[in-house]
Amino acid sequence: MKKYVYFFGAGKADGTGEMKHLLGGKGAGLAEMTRIGLPVPAGFTVTTEVCDYYYKHGQKYPKELAGEVKKALARLEKVTGKKLGDAVNPLLVSVRSGSARSMPGMMETILNLGLNDRSVEALARNTGNNRFAFDAYRRLVQMYSSVVIGLPKEELEHKLRAMKARLGVKDDTEVPGEAWRELVQEYKAYYRQKTGKPFPEDPEEQLWGAIGAVFGSWMAEKAVTYRRVEKITGLLGTAVSVVQMVFGNTGENSGTGVCFTRDPSTGEKIFYGDFLLNAQGEDVVAGIRTPMHLDEMAKRMPKIYAQMERVRKTLETHYRDMQDIEFTVEDGTLYVLQTRVGKRTPSATFKMAVDMAKEGLISREEAIERVKAEDIERLFYPVIDSSVQRVDLSRRLLASGVNAVPGAAVGQVVFTAHEAEEWARAGKKVILVRRETSPEDVGGMFVAQGILTATGGKTSHAAVVARGWGKCCVVGCEKLHIDANQKTMGANGRVIREGDWITLDGNDGVVYEGKIPLVMPKLSQAYTTLMQWADKVRRLKVRTNVDTPQDARKAREMGAEGIGLCRTEHMFFKDFEQPERSVERQFAIQEMILSETVEARKAALAKLLPFQRRDFIGIFEAMDGLPVTIRLIDPPLHEFVPHGREQQEELARKLGVDVEVVARRVAQLHEANPMLGHRGCRLCITYPEILEMQVRAIIEAAIDCQKRGFKVLPEIMHPLTLDRKELQILERETRRVADEEIEKAKVKLNYLVGTMIELPRAALLADQVAEVAEFFSFGTNDLTQTVMGLSRDDAGRFLADYVDVNKAGIFPGDPFQTLDVTGVGMLMEWAIRKGRATRPKLKIGICGEHGGDPESVRFCHRVGMDYVSASPFRVPIARLAAAQAVIEEKAAKKAKAARR
Ligand code: PEP
Ligand code: MG
Repeated sequence: MKKYVYFFGAGKADGTGEMKHLLGGKGAGLAEMTRIGLPVPAGFTVTTEVCDYYYKHGQKYPKELAGEVKKALARLEKVTGKKLGDAVNPLLVSVRSGSARSMPGMMETILNLGLNDRSVEALARNTGNNRFAFDAYRRLVQMYSSVVIGLPKEELEHKLRAMKARLGVKDDTEVPGEAWRELVQEYKAYYRQKTGKPFPEDPEEQLWGAIGAVFGSWMAEKAVTYRRVEKITGLLGTAVSVVQMVFGNTGENSGTGVCFTRDPSTGEKIFYGDFLLNAQGEDVVAGIRTPMHLDEMAKRMPKIYAQMERVRKTLETHYRDMQDIEFTVEDGTLYVLQTRVGKRTPSATFKMAVDMAKEGLISREEAIERVKAEDIERLFYPVIDSSVQRVDLSRRLLASGVNAVPGAAVGQVVFTAHEAEEWARAGKKVILVRRETSPEDVGGMFVAQGILTATGGKTSHAAVVARGWGKCCVVGCEKLHIDANQKTMGANGRVIREGDWITLDGNDGVVYEGKIPLVMPKLSQAYTTLMQWADKVRRLKVRTNVDTPQDARKAREMGAEGIGLCRTEHMFFKDFEQPERSVERQFAIQEMILSETVEARKAALAKLLPFQRRDFIGIFEAMDGLPVTIRLIDPPLHEFVPHGREQQEELARKLGVDVEVVARRVAQLHEANPMLGHRGCRLCITYPEILEMQVRAIIEAAIDCQKRGFKVLPEIMHPLTLDRKELQILERETRRVADEEIEKAKVKLNYLVGTMIELPRAALLADQVAEVAEFFSFGTNDLTQTVMGLSRDDAGRFLADYVDVNKAGIFPGDPFQTLDVTGVGMLMEWAIRKGRATRPKLKIGICGEHGGDPESVRFCHRVGMDYVSASPFRVPIARLAAAQAVIEEKAAKKAKAARR
């Protein structure tokens, strides 16, 4: 029989930390913490399977649930020695949400459940604190009314504010018990007026109402949006944990806090956290009051702090990772309410992984596994250019606050999440400025360059959410006066309006007026160390796709071990080293295309040759000692000629021909389906003189570099071939030209001739193709296009429907980003097997965009490729993924052996 309710308390728990899928992160955490002997309040968890059932059965519960909850409640009452709703010794519980993946603040929580007109008196008596008891009661009525019943929050808040105004007090803590008692009555009257029913006095009715509200919040718009943005799929739903209430707001000897076992921003091994005295529940996370730091708490509550230090140690040793802990102190007694693996910035991810491996807490392999592709990408987020003068910065200073997430961001100010989304849709860069953020704001936060709030600490909603994305965030800028209605913010004597530019510095927690130049940061030692560890583990080589010497140097810094794809035609139009000569190049290529005779074409190509040679020299120099794959011309020629009448006239003038000649040739080049047309190696079949010029330029450059002491390893690659015979024609011509040059120079130069595999026919006939090709490089952009019959340029218009699980959900992801392993991958495996059957040492790589996609890199490892090639910034991602592929393969083998 299925078990729907899991109990924990008094050192025993039905569940374990492994059961996140069933108990949610929170429920599993409470069970595990109970097991390892931490001071955890008792309670029970209703599983995610109930949530799943609830939505599949018209919002009804499985029939066994009521009995199981009753039993668990009785056990909870026994363990705590208290009774729900009791007039003498009442038990109060919180009802909390929690799914297998953390969704901070997205779902509902209800506190102080079990209070009614009788039990509140008992609570007041037992604590000797009337004010506290009635404050707790009004919180319940307020939360219950808005969360369970759906009455407008603002109305309830308004009544609270009006009451405080009548009393002339500012803080909740100044409100006397009697006033809270009256507010409860006022809330209840409002409740009855709106619902036609009295507020439920029966605590069990309250409990079921709350459980239903938590399940309901799973499908609330903000939660659904969050899952969409965070790409969270495959969960059953939320669990509901019913937990004995402990109070952080019973007086100055109480409080509530959130802490991290290491600093989530920097990764340093310091105990980092925020604490609010005399506060309850979500006050810290909500970021409404700015909390004190943990070291200040250490001075006020040294005993509790010492106990917290022990908890910190126990948790890190147990979970072997940085933990984010919620705790409450009730009259000098510590309770740990929740622990989970803490979100961290990308640089902290590296620091923690490396430190923990060095401390022996985790292995090096685990450290490598802890870093994700996004962490690497986010490491390259910009910072303020250090060349900006300090005086300039101080002149622009608007406010400073808490440096919640590092990096820097420049954008135009908007004051609502809605506007952020609209402006971003219009292509604008925005900074979202809020007093505090709430889960409703996630859509706007996601599209913003950076986030700025006037309140909150490092654990506030804004900070936690932004950190997960590695998005620059400054919080707790208390001097910032935000007027969201007027769409202005004031600070440091200045007024900033909607649309004005500001710059955030998330490293120092500072806000500046205007646009300040940003640069890429230096990489940390931890990054270098971890990447070195990864390099030792991986088998795949990682090359790069670059077309210029400058990018080649950058890629080398990023760890590229050669060039996997140099698209020569990219240099036809732009001279990267001498931009002023770009026009000359363009003219030469256009002249070549418009030539009517072979001689004229050759003459035009002769003009292009020195340019190409210079480009290749630069690239060979930058890649000294590493292989460089140069691909011959690929795109259809129409891409290089002007289509507008004016430009055609200009070109005709330069060529000294009639404009009609140009127009006619351009029209001739028009193809209905250019992607499957006269492009790739087909161009060199028709115009071998193009091949001749390019090969000559490559070999001349190689000889020149070699003579000057550089080690060159050229690999000449033919694109879009479709069979052996075609490749053989090209290969013979390539060797003829290359060998002629080598002979003429009287040198010895090794070079390879190979092909891209980007058409199904070439893949199918790979055994024959390999008779000629010395290497294969999978052009998976075209291969995906041709295997799937999806245009790489146009499929974006409808691919979303194919990927969206709520629509067709046909593909798990965009096949142009992550390799379609099932289809395209099957053909690649075939080609590899066939190719190597002919030529066992056939060198095989990939140079489509997939070479920088972690999932696809894992596939390339599995099928035994020699290398992947990625754009410079994705080189480290590929290095890491290649190492992770080895580690995961090892683990899978081990698991398989253990099963046998
Ligand atoms: C490919 O098709 O995968 C490839 C690398 O070539 P291009 O993107 O230049 O067509
Ligand atoms: Mg291609």
